[in-house]
Amino acid sequence: MTTSDGTVQGRTQTFGSAPRNRAFTVVLLGDGFTAAQQTDFNTACKDFVNALTATAPYDELAPAINIWRVNVTSTDSGADDPAGAGSTGATARTYFDSTFGANGIRRLLVCNNSTVLQTAAAQVPVFSAAIVVVNSTVYGGSGGSVGTYSLASGATEIAIHEAGHTAYGLADEYPYYAGGNETGHDHHPAGEPSEPNVTLNTDRTTLKWGWAVAANTALPTMSNPNCATVDSRPSTVPTGTVGTFEGAHYYHCGAHRPEYTCKMPELGVPFCRVCRQVIWNRIGPLATLPARDRTPISVVARYPEHLDVFAAAADGRTMSNWWDATGGWAGWFQLGIT
Ligand SMILES: [Zn+2]
Ligand SMILES: [Zn+2]
Repeated sequence: MTTSDGTVQGRTQTFGSAPRNRAFTVVLLGDGFTAAQQTDFNTACKDFVNALTATAPYDELAPAINIWRVNVTSTDSGADDPAGAGSTGATARTYFDSTFGANGIRRLLVCNNSTVLQTAAAQVPVFSAAIVVVNSTVYGGSGGSVGTYSLASGATEIAIHEAGHTAYGLADEYPYYAGGNETGHDHHPAGEPSEPNVTLNTDRTTLKWGWAVAANTALPTMSNPNCATVDSRPSTVPTGTVGTFEGAHYYHCGAHRPEYTCKMPELGVPFCRVCRQVIWNRIGPLATLPARDRTPISVVARYPEHLDVFAAAADGRTMSNWWDATGGWAGWFQLGIT
């Protein structure tokens, strides 16, 4: 239940060659792996690396990503699974004290966040996100200040979803809380969510992802005809259309998500255009443009106090940065990724 239930063995870099001061650094820490099970943790970390670096936009951002694993032994294998619907009632003595069943929901897997953050900082001082790999095949995960996931089938998809919360503050885009057509989740309460990928607003001119919506896409794009349940109709627009789709942020109605599908409401599908851009905006500025010495750069001074800078990379990507007298340099952004 505490750090007396295990030992930190040390760190190993498992992916990346970015300079440590210009990298997005993920630290994976094991919980509920006994000393004899450390190779299982190592295998899980390898699976995470393979899945993350094959997922857009991480595939393109790989030159700016470093991934470390921190091997930690636990006295017992597994995690706590407190008594409740479908649970085993198991308890396990583990270093980070991982447990299923937070808020009475079995799939919510949490751990001792302060121990995780302290351990990650001691092992990999420049880390960007800490994710705990929990040695259990019970389905679960969560994405607060620390991400967690278990080794249920599809584990790496859970891990990438939870990292979306932990590293970028992305919201859950799914339109329910406890798994279906529950009561009390018909209408999203008033108040615009702070996250970049859910909204109550369907006004084209003020929509937070309005930049991604084509002029000929209707807003709202899909509205839920029956707020008592999740709208389970198929999409009425082609895959990849960005608009406003009602049903998001744990509610059947009132809140909208940017595309019909995305990894934040649903595992096994790509991130939507908006979530991809949020990830890109965080990691992209750390990446060095390929063929930088031959990259054509143009600079436009729009006003005396504002400069726009555009760089076309050898691979066709266009990056932009700008300088403003009040805000200084904004950082590099990629324009028009698909
Ligand atoms: Zn989530
Ligand atoms: Zn999304």
